[in-house]
Amino acid sequence: MAGSRFAYRLYHRPFRRSLQTSHGTWDRRDGMILRLVDAAGQITFGEIAPLPWFGSETIAQAWDFCQHLPPEITAETIAMIPAHLPACQFGFESAWMGHSQRAESIAPHHLSGLLPAGKSALETWQPLWDQGYRTFKWKIGIGDLLTEIQIFHSLTAALPQSARLRLDANGGLTWQEAIVWLESIAATQVEFLEQPLSVDQFDAMLDLSQRYPTPLALDESVATLAQLQTCYQRGWRGVFVVKPSIAGFPSHLRQFWQQQHLDGVVSSVFETAIGRQASLALGAELQTGTDRAAGFGVTHWFNDDLDTLEFEQLWQRLSPV
Ligand SMILES: [Mg+2]
Repeated sequence: MAGSRFAYRLYHRPFRRSLQTSHGTWDRRDGMILRLVDAAGQITFGEIAPLPWFGSETIAQAWDFCQHLPPEITAETIAMIPAHLPACQFGFESAWMGHSQRAESIAPHHLSGLLPAGKSALETWQPLWDQGYRTFKWKIGIGDLLTEIQIFHSLTAALPQSARLRLDANGGLTWQEAIVWLESIAATQVEFLEQPLSVDQFDAMLDLSQRYPTPLALDESVATLAQLQTCYQRGWRGVFVVKPSIAGFPSHLRQFWQQQHLDGVVSSVFETAIGRQASLALGAELQTGTDRAAGFGVTHWFNDDLDTLEFEQLWQRLSPV
């Protein structure tokens, strides 16, 4: 089979404000852009955007992997990328399947706008609403429990009736705290509570998912396709939040998702427009029959202009290896 010439470049993107989750504080997204040129001269792009605290490889491991590849790669090279490099699997297969240009961007009402943690959420939702966002996500499990619940009530009182709100604990709650939250939100319109407990507490989350009316979603627990399959086999029928950029080969994810008719959403790892477009294209295939917003309302977290550039221009901005 004909090969493609392969090149890669590193990018660094500081966040407009530090991103706080129960995993800690994150200041800058580092990732890699892949550029393939096939025998006919067709150029396509892919992106490697690891998230090591979700169990993916680090950017250093991805870089090391790329440095050991030959300058020309084939479909066989890509199929042999090992399972411990899921962000590389995604980046290479999506580059191989080929997006060469920016597609039309997706309207905000199909996306979930990420609010900052704590009371800043109260001042942040309105401008996003004005841009067309109707679904919002707010991180919990970071500050004091009762303070967060008070802010939650202020937020739901302020949001218009038709708004949807997702809560994401990033695995940061105890069993007791999860119960307090689930009782507090039982009579509200929360779309789902994401990853209340840590990854090692699967049985407890399965138990919680059957006790309260608010749906629960898994995120950290289903970071890779292998983890997603395990949770499904162990009985999870709630919502799956899947980050395609770290889930491994898109073709494998698509096959399992479609076979099992999963209820889920695709979600961002703060990729550039290149990884974002590949993830959203996959999401459009997977999230059929649902009106859930994709978890990609995050471009307001950056203050550079990378998301406005054509892919080739974005590539030219980055320093050659
Ligand atoms: Mg999450």
